[in-house]
Amino acid sequence: MSMPSRADWEHRAQHLTIEGRAFIHGQYVPAAEGATFECRSPIDSRLLAHVASCTAADADRAVLDARTTFESGVWSQLAPARRKTVLLRLAELVDIHREELALLETLDMGKPIRDALRVDLPAAANCLRWCAEAVDKLYDEVAPTGPDQLGLVTREAVGVVAAIVPWNFPLLMACWKLGPALATGNSVILKPSEKSPLTALRLAALAVEAGLPAGVLNVLPGYGHTVGKALALHMDVDTLVFTGSTRTARQLMIHAGESNLKRVWSEAGGKSPNIVCADAPDLRAAARAAAGAICFNQGEVCTAGSRLLVEASIKEPFMALLLEAIRAWQPGHPLDPATNVGALVDRQQLDTVLGYIEAGHAEGAQLRCGGRRIMEEGGGFFVEPTVFDGVSNAMKIAREEIFGPVLSVITFDDLDEAIRIANDSPYGLAAALWTADLSKAHRGARALRAGSVWINQYDGGDMSAPFGGFKQSGNGRDKSLHAFDKYTEIKATWIKL
Ligand code: NAD
Repeated sequence: MSMPSRADWEHRAQHLTIEGRAFIHGQYVPAAEGATFECRSPIDSRLLAHVASCTAADADRAVLDARTTFESGVWSQLAPARRKTVLLRLAELVDIHREELALLETLDMGKPIRDALRVDLPAAANCLRWCAEAVDKLYDEVAPTGPDQLGLVTREAVGVVAAIVPWNFPLLMACWKLGPALATGNSVILKPSEKSPLTALRLAALAVEAGLPAGVLNVLPGYGHTVGKALALHMDVDTLVFTGSTRTARQLMIHAGESNLKRVWSEAGGKSPNIVCADAPDLRAAARAAAGAICFNQGEVCTAGSRLLVEASIKEPFMALLLEAIRAWQPGHPLDPATNVGALVDRQQLDTVLGYIEAGHAEGAQLRCGGRRIMEEGGGFFVEPTVFDGVSNAMKIAREEIFGPVLSVITFDDLDEAIRIANDSPYGLAAALWTADLSKAHRGARALRAGSVWINQYDGGDMSAPFGGFKQSGNGRDKSLHAFDKYTEIKATWIKL
């Protein structure tokens, strides 16, 4: 697939029609109170759109519409094979519009266009396609009863699902929720992040074009927590699925407890350890992967390999390889197809990341590269990939999720110590281990308290495997058939024969 040039993308950006209104019952509508907020690009602070600032009134309207649609059966009672057809068409439309959607994503949240086009967009379409293909191949159960009973164990759509998603992979995170939620027959209210609402709004129109009945997918953008909180407190939302920070996940669980005990499934933060043993099969490959694990998507990745644990005996040679690999990751204009590190999502995130770099200095970690804001003159929020050495696992930069390209290097003497450090975190999303010793690899994989463990690679996986966290990285799983658990209730039906 050939990639348009930066000039092409700039030209397209100037002629892009951007929709900022909410989407309810198949139509774009202003927020009930008429308010909007400015959506600006982190690349150069240009104004992209005035986006509807939805409130509780919009949540009420969207939930009522979703409930009415669900009860009507127009989607929920369709045969799975027919829902499959619509979702496959939606995946196809995402593919057809991939350049437009990738451009929107890059302008909105600052990621390199090549990643938006080659990673986010294919993964989003693939997720929809996988869930669509799965749903007409699932069977329910017959209980092992005696001869005078028939016991059926069946799955039903939960009903009205609210999905609150973050800004780092806006369309993809939305599709991780929408794929299984829609395939199983639910009606969904999608609440994108205020930092990146644009592709979700565009997707809603594509869904209707694909044949999704009006009211099955409503999209409510909003500023701050207002509309998300209203959905979390709503008495007629059955399930709340969330991807975002652990702090917000905690708050949403409180809201569920304060309202109708809606199920809350969270995919939250991480501080993932990447452990490199002296007997790793290829140290250069490990160094390259470690660089990618903190630089890809500007480090704004829940599974960023933000704690690099290196065996003391290979520390200095490995640092040399790492610093060389990091040089291949340097911020550039996100619309330039050669760029592999884009802009941080907004000034707030920039300040957060710079604040952690300050904390690293203050706590005595040694800066080995990066550490500065750059390209400020263009009005964008770019930070150099940054490596701190001599970090202890007790330091703030090793304990808290930074969500930027800032790597903490920690040393260890043996695998037991590495596992102890790796597990000494409130998070448990992912972990990687590099070793050529098969027993060490299996022992480590068992001992690591994380939802995903990667051996001799960083960030493996596809739609066939579940994704989610241990501990405060969340509950439940996205992707794979395990994700369907979130969107279905199990019913036992007993028939006396
Ligand atoms: P965030 O928690 O600030 O916001 C996430 C979403 O929740 C946004 O739509 C936001 O508007 C909304 N929100 C914020 N406060 C709310 C409240 N009080 N009530 C209701 N809604 C509220 O997170 P973020 O900054 O958008 O995303 C970054 C976080 O997401 C990181 O912690 C990252 O690790 C996590 N993340 C996790 C995964 C995963 O699969 N585990 C994937 C991507 C991102």
